[in-house]
Amino acid sequence: MSAQLISGTALSQQIRAEVSQRAAALAASGVKPGLAVILVGEDPASAVYVRNKVKACADTGVHSVLEKYDASLSETDLLARIRALNDDPAIHGILVQMPLPRHIHPQRVIETISTTKDVDGYSVRSAGDLMAGLPGFRPCTPYGCMKLIESTGVDLRGKHAVVIGRSNTVGKPMALLLLQANATVTVCHSATPDLGLFTRQADVVVAAVGRRDTLTAEMVKPGAIVIDVGMNRDDAGKLCGDVDFDRVKDVAGWITPVPGGVGPMTITMLLVNTVESAERVAN
Ligand code: NAP
Repeated sequence: MSAQLISGTALSQQIRAEVSQRAAALAASGVKPGLAVILVGEDPASAVYVRNKVKACADTGVHSVLEKYDASLSETDLLARIRALNDDPAIHGILVQMPLPRHIHPQRVIETISTTKDVDGYSVRSAGDLMAGLPGFRPCTPYGCMKLIESTGVDLRGKHAVVIGRSNTVGKPMALLLLQANATVTVCHSATPDLGLFTRQADVVVAAVGRRDTLTAEMVKPGAIVIDVGMNRDDAGKLCGDVDFDRVKDVAGWITPVPGGVGPMTITMLLVNTVESAERVAN
């Protein structure tokens, strides 16, 4: 392996230690940072994600409230609950775990969360703030990817970054964050005819597709930074990313593993956003 491993687990530990210190300082000044997590329905994967978020809060001194509702909860009742949390001074961040049952409109739910508590950064207002370069909450997964890239010490100014994927939650905000860091950015997607043509020119590749082996060794420029957002299963049922890690690691300069790369950073940046929200209130 010639690439240096970028460990999201190690970087997360470091950032979570900083979150703990900031949470303790806030608590000492009378403001305990608080996150409300809402889970509607019985989706097993969502239950695991929610459990991990609540545990991460407990580990870092962030107060969390988990509200679980039956899948039959009406949209009206969910929106009323969010409005109550918007008005609750003990809560600085509100997260509604996706996916929601089909009868609930996800964007209506997201837009009901107060902009000052939108720690997932999914609202149109938060997206607009990012687009305009204004302060606001950045979506946790691309925000975490930026921290992983920063940890390499490579200055992105003048570098070419290729993002594979254009979802509202990962690909698009990722491209905007890279642009803000002065990279020249290309966004590829399912209608891109020759992905390798673009990735071979990239100093940084962020793969956010959801299909294993999307990025193979011959598609990577030697020395590039490769960030793997994908979460897939291989034939043996083992968790894997979008990148052919075993071969790409011999070509890339830096690479994130799956698991232990982007995954732990997503929850960590949720904690960062929640503490930042509480700091805004305290100040
Ligand atoms: P998504 O909404 O399904 O978007 C996938 C994107 O990939 C789309 O923009 C799609 O293009 C593009 N795509 C599909 N096939 C492609 C191909 N052959 N070549 C190039 N682009 C292609 O998924 P997402 O929510 O962004 O998530 C992407 C992956 O990241 C998933 O595996 C997800 O589980 C994972 N994820 C991980 C974390 C974490 O914390 N580790 C967090 C979020 C997501 P079109 O727009 O043209 O359809």
